[in-house]
Amino acid sequence: MTSKINAIDCDVHVNLPGTHVLLPWLDDYWRNTVTDREISSLESISYPPNAPLSARPDWKNAQGQAAMDLASVRRDVLDRWNTSIAIINCIYGVHLVFNIDMARVFARALNSWIASEWLDRDPRLRASIVLPMQHPDFAVEEIEFWAHDKRFVQVLMPCMGEAPLGQRRYWPVWAACEKHGLPIGVHAGSAHRHPPTSIGWTSWYVEDYSAQSLGFQSQLASLITEGVFQQFPKLKAVFIESGVTWMPAHLWRLAKFWRGVRNEVPWVDRPPFEIARDHVRLTAQPFDAPEGVVTMDRICEHFGSDEMLLYASDYPHWQFEGDAVLPAGVSPGLRRKLMVDNPLATYPRLAG
Ligand code: ZN
Repeated sequence: MTSKINAIDCDVHVNLPGTHVLLPWLDDYWRNTVTDREISSLESISYPPNAPLSARPDWKNAQGQAAMDLASVRRDVLDRWNTSIAIINCIYGVHLVFNIDMARVFARALNSWIASEWLDRDPRLRASIVLPMQHPDFAVEEIEFWAHDKRFVQVLMPCMGEAPLGQRRYWPVWAACEKHGLPIGVHAGSAHRHPPTSIGWTSWYVEDYSAQSLGFQSQLASLITEGVFQQFPKLKAVFIESGVTWMPAHLWRLAKFWRGVRNEVPWVDRPPFEIARDHVRLTAQPFDAPEGVVTMDRICEHFGSDEMLLYASDYPHWQFEGDAVLPAGVSPGLRRKLMVDNPLATYPRLAG
């Protein structure tokens, strides 16, 4: 079975043409709310549709939109790279709304749309359950609703939400994830409850996008220092579209100061690097290292592990030249690990 798998793409995006496609999964009250209030779109400013990073130009249709239909995803991802399995991460702005009841019904409708419009139509597709993290009870409810469907292989939320993800309020969500074999998928992006940097709002998109790694640093520190992985020893977190080079340096820094003040967090019973190696994974796009100077093998040396990186195209985001999803110089053995072995070890539901 495993030998037949060619590539598992761990970050593929699909886009909604608008909120109107969710109407079939809303009851009368919410359908009227969407139409009366003219809620036509929940686009996040984390991915402005016209920003070059948001879509490779030749992947856009005549209307300038990308990743809107199955034919495009088949042509530009599944067939293009001989992809055996692709995990859909839909980052429509369910996380943006402040009304927790609206977040709850929009998440259910969005996951229903993903199941019926994508998963039902191509056996190579898998997906993440989009969670309404505005209320942990509703996030748990969403996990329990979809858990029977093994095509959903992880849960999904933006990196920058309302609070650090290690905090106790989220532990019921992590308990449900562990129970059902669902890694926590944390994708670049923000609910915009806070500025994307710790020094305030930025002027430019390039600042915002570059600062995503700062959010991931804080989430990594929160998950480790709050003891999430001691409490849920089978849990894994996948940092998606975070870039990869920030993590070794941040873990070196975290480990340095953990040694000095670890009496503050005695439940962190081993160096943060060891915990991350066991529980944290990263998708390999964008690969934010200078090409030809620092190869992926070298990055793995920094991690002290070749099991942490997962192959991903990040379609339709424009993160690499031509079709070079993996940077040059990746050894064949590591290539196979990134594209097949590591994803299978990360997502237990792919084995079914
Ligand atoms: Zn992505």
